[in-house]
Amino acid sequence: MKILSIVNQKGGVGKTTSTINLAAYLAMGKRKVLVIDLDPQGNASSGLGIRESEAGIYEVLSGDAQIEATIVPTEQKNLFLLTSSSDLAGASVELNEHPNRLKEVLVDLKGFDLVLIDAPPSLGALTVNALVASDGLIVPLQAEYYALEGVAGLLETIDRVKDALNKKLKTLGIVITMFDGRTNLAQQVEENVRRHFGEQVFWSVIPRNVKLSEAPSYGKTINQYAPMSNGAGAYRRLAEEVMQRAQKL
Ligand code: ADP
Ligand code: MG
Repeated sequence: MKILSIVNQKGGVGKTTSTINLAAYLAMGKRKVLVIDLDPQGNASSGLGIRESEAGIYEVLSGDAQIEATIVPTEQKNLFLLTSSSDLAGASVELNEHPNRLKEVLVDLKGFDLVLIDAPPSLGALTVNALVASDGLIVPLQAEYYALEGVAGLLETIDRVKDALNKKLKTLGIVITMFDGRTNLAQQVEENVRRHFGEQVFWSVIPRNVKLSEAPSYGKTINQYAPMSNGAGAYRRLAEEVMQRAQKL
């Protein structure tokens, strides 16, 4: 079982969109995939069509629920979810003292090939728990002028966690999101990011595509909502790259 977190402390860069659509394509093979919605806003849960569940990752982290009993199936075969809830915001205080908590609850989990964690837009205790629990990280960068702003802070946090708590942590790759090929700016940002990060950047670039933003309001992933769209093709190709890199972790 490989555990991957989708992290960037900036909001609105495509973490949740990438988590649910990657998970959907990864689950289309024979792989069994679990999404953990670690953002109190719960966008990954609603994007996968699940708004209510009796318990979620908050109860699991608090020790009030057992992980296997809390995982819920989604509409798609092989794709499962641990839901978020707004209570999760309050867990930060306790989790500050327990950076290993999520890792500990995942140790008992059997039967999944991949776990994808949708991290919240902060570098707080929830994100640190995600970093400690992970084998690899995927960092979405929005193709806009300020794309690299804050990346230094993120890399610092990753290094700190690596040194102190999780030596095996690797950055699986950086993915450029919301790319608008009609603008020079987007092309300049892509060039810049590739020059700066080299082979760490995935070849697949996620285009700005309205279908990707519409799908979650129907509780659907892009392979269900608009499988022939540019956005769908991009996430399908990205999933292949992610699988290849994850096998080497
Ligand atoms: P994050 O989880 O990092 O906050 P989201 O994945 O929620 O970011 O994306 C922020 C907003 O942008 C959402 O409304 C989402 O639907 C939209 N969005 C994300 N990726 C794309 C894309 N490639 N094309 C168009 N809209 C997108
Ligand atoms: Mg999000």
